Amino acid sequence: MRLLIVEDEKRLALSLARGLTAEGFAVDVVHDGTEGLHRASEGSYDLIVLDIMLPGMNGYRVCGALRAAGSDVPVLMLTAKDGEYDEAEGLDTGADDYLTKPFSYVVLLARVRALLRRRARTASPVLSVGELSVDTATRRVTLEDTEVTLTAKEFSVLEHLALRAGEVVSKSEILEHVWDFAYDGDPNIVEVYISALRRKLGAQTIGTVRGAGYRLVADRA
Ligand code: CA
Repeated sequence: MRLLIVEDEKRLALSLARGLTAEGFAVDVVHDGTEGLHRASEGSYDLIVLDIMLPGMNGYRVCGALRAAGSDVPVLMLTAKDGEYDEAEGLDTGADDYLTKPFSYVVLLARVRALLRRRARTASPVLSVGELSVDTATRRVTLEDTEVTLTAKEFSVLEHLALRAGEVVSKSEILEHVWDFAYDGDPNIVEVYISALRRKLGAQTIGTVRGAGYRLVADRA
């Protein structure tokens, strides 16, 4: 899951990015609204954390512009101001949720996960694909009731495939959702993680669709 944080308070932005990265998210950070809109428009983000009071362009305008352009990426707005007016305006411009500063990191994380679940159209944090179970809240994976230990990146790759279970997911899509903007290494890194997942989960769990990508297979032969 790849997140964009648009927040001009650099210490707050950095601490959010550190926390969310430790949870296994790929996180990009920008500090002004214009850059935020630019990044959000061109990147494949699963969610945007958007401050309201920003240099360049405020969060309401960034969100409004994204929605006007047809983007349905979940937006969690942050603001220092507390009042019904702000909340209404934020939701009017197309934000999905709203958090008033100061907030606890635990609450932010819970809201982020709730929005991502809503996006995946699943009420449960547990994604079940055949005998494979991927718990997106605790980040635990079990296969036929046996726990499988994965690294943070392995989990993120598997989570992305599980959210799209049965569908073909391209290598570039996995790269965009699991690695952050700063990654400029070899795109074949995805293959390395797919190989590791196959070793741990069984070769037939993840199918290769030649020239198109990978597919998590529900029924293992
Ligand atoms: Ca601000």
